Amino acid sequence: MKLESILLPGVDPTRPLVIAGPCSAETEEQVMETAKELAADGIKIMRAGIWKPRTKPGGFEGIGSEGLQWLKRVKQETGMYVSTEVATQKHVYEALKYGVDLLWIGARTTANPFAVQEIAEALQGVDIPVLVKNPVNPDLELWIGALERLSNVGLTRIGAIHRGFSSFDKKIYRNLPQWHIPIELKRRYPDLPIICDPSHIGGKRDLIQPLSQQAMDLGFEGLIIETHCNPDCAWSDAAQQVTPPRLKEILANLVIRDGNKQTTEDLTALRRQIDELDDQLLELIAKRMRISQEIGTFKKEHGMTIVQTDRYDEILSKRIAQATEMKMNPEFMRVILEAIHEESVRVQLDILNK
Ligand code: PEP
Ligand code: MN
Repeated sequence: MKLESILLPGVDPTRPLVIAGPCSAETEEQVMETAKELAADGIKIMRAGIWKPRTKPGGFEGIGSEGLQWLKRVKQETGMYVSTEVATQKHVYEALKYGVDLLWIGARTTANPFAVQEIAEALQGVDIPVLVKNPVNPDLELWIGALERLSNVGLTRIGAIHRGFSSFDKKIYRNLPQWHIPIELKRRYPDLPIICDPSHIGGKRDLIQPLSQQAMDLGFEGLIIETHCNPDCAWSDAAQQVTPPRLKEILANLVIRDGNKQTTEDLTALRRQIDELDDQLLELIAKRMRISQEIGTFKKEHGMTIVQTDRYDEILSKRIAQATEMKMNPEFMRVILEAIHEESVRVQLDILNK
């Protein structure tokens, strides 16, 4: 994937890149009022859903193309950039016609390769940043597939939005963060910017501050936060939207730790030690496995069963007690010992069945 900056001219490149605005454009007044408050607080990119994918029919399905006029007015009167979600080719053409500056693909659309391909083809040859939300299901390959479809038509200003993954059993979060998934995405594509959407992860406005902080601590590049001039009366996602003054407070409270400082000499030296220790750990585990194999051969020759419960109990209790003395978490040690034991049993079973 060839990646270039998603930054728009004049937008501060320091973290976090902030995109804020209502879940949905509802009325011209609501859009303009929210926009003016955001612009006064220095927000440079506004979001507003024009076409809304709703779980069930009958809800507010977005104002449609009419709202694009309002976004154009936002640009003219506040100088902010504007962004919206596109789910079909028609959405792409309409948004481009009205000068929308940044597009995103919603979570339900990312899960549909036909729709993503159609959007990608409509965007071929257009120089615009496009952000891809994770699919609703926790499938990293599907997320990457959507990014690749955009990349394959020649788009380079591509980024990802982490908005959490849906689950049947909603407890704290509306969509489970499953942070390891965007972290793995970052590991595979270090230059791909990732924006966190704490509004859709949390589903409640109280969760936006801690989720935003967590995203910053994990090194995400930006935040997209649903902001509405009168959140309680919002036509969609009322519980998770904040007011512009609250957004300002959330952003001011963020502690931004500088990712680059992590490569100071001290840290490099410590990391070198960790690498060496990991080498030794692997050598030791490999050696232990080889001995385990020898034991397996011995057991086979002498017609012994593989699992000798007394011996396993002895190893577990002795080493867990030792770990506790060494100030390690006994549960952590149990998990490690059990994994090693399981693999030894598998290796010995292999020998027995040869
Ligand atoms: C949205 O951003 O308002 C939206 C519909 O989000 P998602 O695609 O993450 O559900
Ligand atoms: Mn929303």
